[in-house]
Amino acid sequence: MKVLVCISKTPDTTTKIAFSSDHASVNYDGVKFILNPYDEHALAKAMELKEKQGAELTVINVGTADSDQIIRKCFAVGADKGVRINTEPMSGTQVARLIANYAANQSFDVILTGRESIDYNGGMVGELLAEMLDMPSIGYCSKMEIEGNKATLTRFIDGGEETLEALLPLVVSAVKELGEPRIPNMRGIMQARTKPIEVLDENVEVHTVTKQYEAPVPKAACVYIDASEPEKLIEILHNEKKLF
Ligand SMILES: Cc1cc2nc3c(=O)[nH]c(=O)nc-3n(C[C@H](O)[C@H](O)[C@H](O)COP(=O)(O)OP(=O)(O)OC[C@H]3O[C@@H](n4cnc5c(N)ncnc54)[C@H](O)[C@@H]3O)c2cc1C
Repeated sequence: MKVLVCISKTPDTTTKIAFSSDHASVNYDGVKFILNPYDEHALAKAMELKEKQGAELTVINVGTADSDQIIRKCFAVGADKGVRINTEPMSGTQVARLIANYAANQSFDVILTGRESIDYNGGMVGELLAEMLDMPSIGYCSKMEIEGNKATLTRFIDGGEETLEALLPLVVSAVKELGEPRIPNMRGIMQARTKPIEVLDENVEVHTVTKQYEAPVPKAACVYIDASEPEKLIEILHNEKKLF
């Protein structure tokens, strides 16, 4: 079985995002990057397929050299191969097209993505990939078992769960219940340092560009009013906020 996990690099969840002076791009100076959390869950499931069913596990990223750190993290966890398509990711369509071009003649049985990246939150790369590769796609998957050429998958639906069967090859996007992220051990970390990453200089035309970013309006400071003084609250709402 051949498994491909698509991995993206996202700012650490505690990062304060700033924009360039013209607000046309994000200022990544000093930003710490991590492996997108949903991709960690996808990777954990792929590791289970490797350990229990002997799957060969490849990870792929569309990104520049600063993505190598997340590919090495996947090596440390147990990925067999790492591929980086050496270009700036500029749109979900571009990312999906580049991965689809790579995967088209590689005979992957399962392609895993996270349900979304935690920065741009498009939730589109997996679905686009499935369409481009003419494969079935199961999104928001919380469980997956594979037997022969058939997968049994569970996904959350409003107020319950849905269980589906699908033939391989297929594209699956992971929610956090799909797999418990692995912590690399020292041996894995050492081996990951020297493992070669396959770097491919490919690109496709990008049809969408961000024109402008706007940060949300900062929240006003919280004012605490003692429960014994409700007249103060009325006073603020009436005279200061002019709500009535
Ligand atoms: C410097 C820079 C500039 C950017 N400029 C723009 C811009 O102008 N306009 C814009 O729309 N976006 C921009 N992006 C974001 C980029 O477009 C997204 O990474 C890409 O669109 C993927 O979409 P998404 O993040 O919404 O992924 P989603 O569709 O939410 O991701 C779902 C899953 O797809 C996989 N995936 C996502 N991205 C990658 C990747 N790069 N490599 C491998 N797998 C991946 C992961 O498994 C992920 O969990 C920029 C990013 C960078 C770093």
